Amino acid sequence: MNFDYTDEQRQFADSVRGFAQQHLANGALKRAHDPGFPFDVAALMAKQGLMGISLPQSEGGQGGSLMDAVIAIEQVAAECPRSADVVQFGNFGPIRTFAEYGTDEQKKRWLSELLAGRMVMSLGMSEPDAGSAVTDLKTTARQDGAHYVLDGSKVFSTFSPEAQVFLIYVRYGPGLGGIGSVLVERGTAGFTIGAPRAFMSDEEWSELHFADCRIPAENVLLGPGGFKKQMAGFNVERLGNTARSLAYGRYAFNAARDYAATREQFDRPLCEFQGLQWKFADMAIKLEGAQLLLYRAATNADKGLPSAYETAVAKTACNLAGFEVASEAVQIMGALGYSRETLVEYCMRRTRGWMIAGGSIQMLKNRIAEHVFDRRFEQRKRTGPAAAS
Ligand SMILES: Cc1cc2nc3c(=O)[nH]c(=O)nc-3n(C[C@H](O)[C@H](O)[C@H](O)COP(=O)(O)OP(=O)(O)OC[C@H]3O[C@@H](n4cnc5c(N)ncnc54)[C@H](O)[C@@H]3O)c2cc1C
Repeated sequence: MNFDYTDEQRQFADSVRGFAQQHLANGALKRAHDPGFPFDVAALMAKQGLMGISLPQSEGGQGGSLMDAVIAIEQVAAECPRSADVVQFGNFGPIRTFAEYGTDEQKKRWLSELLAGRMVMSLGMSEPDAGSAVTDLKTTARQDGAHYVLDGSKVFSTFSPEAQVFLIYVRYGPGLGGIGSVLVERGTAGFTIGAPRAFMSDEEWSELHFADCRIPAENVLLGPGGFKKQMAGFNVERLGNTARSLAYGRYAFNAARDYAATREQFDRPLCEFQGLQWKFADMAIKLEGAQLLLYRAATNADKGLPSAYETAVAKTACNLAGFEVASEAVQIMGALGYSRETLVEYCMRRTRGWMIAGGSIQMLKNRIAEHVFDRRFEQRKRTGPAAAS
């Protein structure tokens, strides 16, 4: 067992950090408060080889591992937390499920544009009546000759105000076995994108409406029975949220540490008060423990998809550590920490969201409990079409 980076990983981490210091550190505060996707950063990252890190070179990726992508998030976020969203988009988001299961034709059409950072993809999974109970989704895809006709609505999709292509979870028929996914382009007739709305983090999302929306059959990503594969791909997205939670917590930790070392009250630097020293000790313990769980999940996935259990454990630990540490950092930095003059309050708001997004902490704990007892715990009271198969 080795708890250190390999030489290659260390070199990679140093080179990403150097890139982030040179190109991203400046303007980090402004970038965090701009809800728009930073396409300029995406273009830089594409040139630097930070998009598609774990995708095969034959598909325009870098041929690296999921752990390399985690390292990239950590090193970028340490200089510019907001830019880590680009690493997420280019390596962990719906792009990864798309690259895993898309046809050659679909990839030819969209993958290179996505990897070049010229286009973003948004994931439409959640619906007004299907959040944690995602298998209750009602958006239908009905085959009509060489087309599918979509009807339904999606909510909360990250990047939806700017995305060009959407990976939409749909229902071809009843039950779990009826769920799959399709790709829909902005501008398709019958597809309406609502006005942007804001999360607490200031990130924006739009309602997506499909009314008699016809897409060619070639846009099917996963047909009926594709739900399990989708979730396997989604575990990668979860690891990206996991890595960002931890990296944002660490950013806030470092900012608070530097502040406590120099800010004086009662004629002493804050770090000389034991009440704050113990906060830092507790924060360090949370970050270090969560980091090991993240690295385990990413390393064990190697170049494939991570295990659902290890992902659930890592995400829960990193979500909690990231938010709790960022919140403590705000406390330690007082009114300055609570102000938009520093990125600590931003880290707190962002990490709060990842406790809900991508599988809430409660849903992940349900998953962990199933592993503990080696049995499934049905969450549904009723029996219905979605629970039938
Ligand atoms: C920042 C952010 C980004 C997001 N991005 C996207 C995106 O790109 N695409 C997309 O499709 N969706 C996205 N979402 C939506 C996200 O997937 C949902 O918020 C999530 O699935 C939870 O659904 P819900 O908000 O409807 O809460 P609900 O499912 O209504 O749950 C409400 C509360 O009840 C708890 N709860 C529910 N069921 C159980 C249970 N069985 N046991 C214990 N507790 C339970 C939940 O944990 C939660 O605390 C995003 C959300 C956020 C916050």
